[in-house]
Amino acid sequence: MSSNEWIDVSVMLKHNMVSWPGDPPVFIERLQDMERGDEATLSRLSMGLHTGTHVDAPLHFVPKGKTIAEMPLDVMTGPARVVGIASDVVSAESIRANAIEPGERVLFKTRNSSLWLQSEFEESFVHLSTEAALELSQCGVRLVGIDYLSVAGFRNNEVEVHRALLEAGIWLVEGLDLSRVEPGDIDLLCLPLKIESAEGAPARVLLRPAR
Ligand SMILES: [Zn+2]
Repeated sequence: MSSNEWIDVSVMLKHNMVSWPGDPPVFIERLQDMERGDEATLSRLSMGLHTGTHVDAPLHFVPKGKTIAEMPLDVMTGPARVVGIASDVVSAESIRANAIEPGERVLFKTRNSSLWLQSEFEESFVHLSTEAALELSQCGVRLVGIDYLSVAGFRNNEVEVHRALLEAGIWLVEGLDLSRVEPGDIDLLCLPLKIESAEGAPARVLLRPAR
């Protein structure tokens, strides 16, 4: 990361792309196409809101929690830190070892980022342990991000991890591709779509090295 240019860490939305098992698939359809003689080109998109790069609002796991439309904009924009994780789980020890402080925005870069090259869902991706989620909720971070479809494990600690973080008022950014970003201080710009009453939304996320 030598230049100061924004790096796009959002994944491409594609028809039938990898999504969470059981979630609605991504369906992108060209309804009109100038290539076929139509006057204009026009498409339709249908998908679950937790597909690709997206934000989880508290309402995802907290009854009456904040919706994506109620998200404070300053949570998603500003200084952040990419923390490199070499192990197969983000543990409470790794949270303590990185001395994460109150108010921080933390994005975990793991081996997951290479999983976006696979066409099938990967069940054994790197995720937070329940203890790590509790540790993060206690240290009062503002935002937690990870480079695959969930902060929690597949058929593992999904409820516990989401609840610990979202009940603590921590906003989650999932489905990042951090393969082109080095660990360190960065500026974050994350803009999820403004969808009424929604518990999450797809987002465009940009990072750039901190000045
Ligand atoms: Zn989600």
